[in-house]
Amino acid sequence: MKRTPELRGEAPALLLVELDPVTVIDGERCEDTYLAGDVAAVGAMREFCPACRQGQLQLVPRQDNVRIAHLFCYHCTRCFGALFEDGTQALCE
Ligand SMILES: [Zn+2]
Repeated sequence: MKRTPELRGEAPALLLVELDPVTVIDGERCEDTYLAGDVAAVGAMREFCPACRQGQLQLVPRQDNVRIAHLFCYHCTRCFGALFEDGTQALCE
């Protein structure tokens, strides 16, 4: 996984696309919530959640119960994928 040094104000804007947690994380659908086991986030992103605008997005890499690297908002528990402006995936597997 390529590490991008922190560039304040220099990094390209990312397009955030909400993902269905079912496709991202192995878990159990339980009424209107989706329960997953422990999911480790590796760090906070510059971006805030575009849905609730409250939570700073956390980068969640692929791991045992995570199928796709994604961004996660602890505030509203939404998952997002990130694309560069040209449409390429910003999060490497
Ligand atoms: Zn949120």
